[in-house]
Amino acid sequence: MQYISTRDSSKTPNSFSDILLAGLAPDGGLFLPVEYPQLDDSTLTRWRDVLKNEGYAALAAEVLQLFIDDIPAEDLKAITARAYTYPKFDSEEIVPVSHLEGELFLGHLSQGPTAAFKDMAMQLLGELFEYELARRGDSLTIVGATSGDTGSSAEYAMRGRENIRVFMLTPAGRMTEFQQAQMFGLDDPNIFNIALDGTFDDCQDVVKAISADADFKRENRIGAVNSINWARLLAQVVYYVNCWIRTTESNDEKVSFCVPTGNFGDICAGHIARQMGLPIDRLIVATNENDVLDEFFRTGTYRVRSSEDTFVTSSPSMDISRASNFERFIFDALGRDAQRVADLFGTQVKAGGFDLSEDDAFETLSRDFGFVSGKSTHADRVATIRDIHERLGVLIDPHTADGVKVAQEWTAQTETPIICLETALPVKFAETINEAIGRDPEVAERFKDILAAERTVADLPNDAEAVKQFILDHPVEN
Ligand SMILES: *Cc1c(COP(=O)(O)O)cnc(C)c1O
Repeated sequence: MQYISTRDSSKTPNSFSDILLAGLAPDGGLFLPVEYPQLDDSTLTRWRDVLKNEGYAALAAEVLQLFIDDIPAEDLKAITARAYTYPKFDSEEIVPVSHLEGELFLGHLSQGPTAAFKDMAMQLLGELFEYELARRGDSLTIVGATSGDTGSSAEYAMRGRENIRVFMLTPAGRMTEFQQAQMFGLDDPNIFNIALDGTFDDCQDVVKAISADADFKRENRIGAVNSINWARLLAQVVYYVNCWIRTTESNDEKVSFCVPTGNFGDICAGHIARQMGLPIDRLIVATNENDVLDEFFRTGTYRVRSSEDTFVTSSPSMDISRASNFERFIFDALGRDAQRVADLFGTQVKAGGFDLSEDDAFETLSRDFGFVSGKSTHADRVATIRDIHERLGVLIDPHTADGVKVAQEWTAQTETPIICLETALPVKFAETINEAIGRDPEVAERFKDILAAERTVADLPNDAEAVKQFILDHPVEN
């Protein structure tokens, strides 16, 4: 399988291992496979058996093999077997599905080590990076910015790995207690937490400034693990297959998914699964107050927000001003017209956005691609957490609550069961849970050590040069 950029009309092919460690394509586009492998009935039937008899990791290897031909199948099997294990994941099923009520189900993506769905992709990425770097005799310095979930998930996936260092910038004092403990409680010699004297945007600007210094970047093997990485999406395709299998008995049965999203990362994997022919009816996009995507699916207008217009909400992992994976979907929706995508995302988005409301493609988004959307606010998510807890005795986190709220609005108009993807555990967002149910969420035994651990973090000024010096001062220890 070869990969092309969403902005490259000449469709220059790239191999999986080439794009694994790359971020954006050189033309600023995102990588996608030249075509989506198509699932036939016998493959789906076989995958049911694989999940049942061999488990999630074996299913993941099956899915990955369709997209990766430059890693031998036995190696892929070993890689997924290391990535998805119990008790690293808190369930032997890795992604269990539970019944909520009526036609609503929960797909539990937050059983991983940091209790957020990012572990699903990051645990695989850690294994793939280590494998590929060893094969090349190379090393990697990951520099990232995080407002919470991505940073801890990346650190847990990369800790203790040879030839990988992680420098993670966080806005000083702005994460939840639990998120801080998760990151700063690690003391692995290859993990470096930096509390920057600034906001999350400042952290991102520092990361950009470091990447823009081509010499520094090359000499120090600087790389990223951001949400546009293709391997992260690929890892996520697997749980759509898993959730479909766990809620159906025959291959004719369709399900819908409702996905809380900001960056269009989680649901983009659902789009890919649907394009492959997985029996998915609807893909329901659920946003919070930062409703860039809901606005698009309702009106056809994609209007990116400025940082002043980006709200700080109680589902903070969806507080985005633009949806970085959205370009992949628009590429498919516009019949893979790379020139148009280059214009829309290379030019028009920089000037504020674009409008497809008059375009034929917009008319067919729901029919051909299954997409519909909805939005949830702070009051909605608090009310949903409280209601689901009171009536059903199930406690969900604020992001998941956004999804459940929107799914409830769509049940009457949807003919299939709806699987709401649970993206985090309540323990990460105690304040909002307390507001909803009047007490803090319980802290599971597996998180108690980290909450008690000593905190390791370097305080640095909001200055790219100071961060570069810190990186130089902490070389790979061998
Ligand atoms: C990252 C994150 C999301 C949103 O993910 P997208 O990539 O924007 O789809 C939702 N919920 C939680 C808990 C997250 O950490």
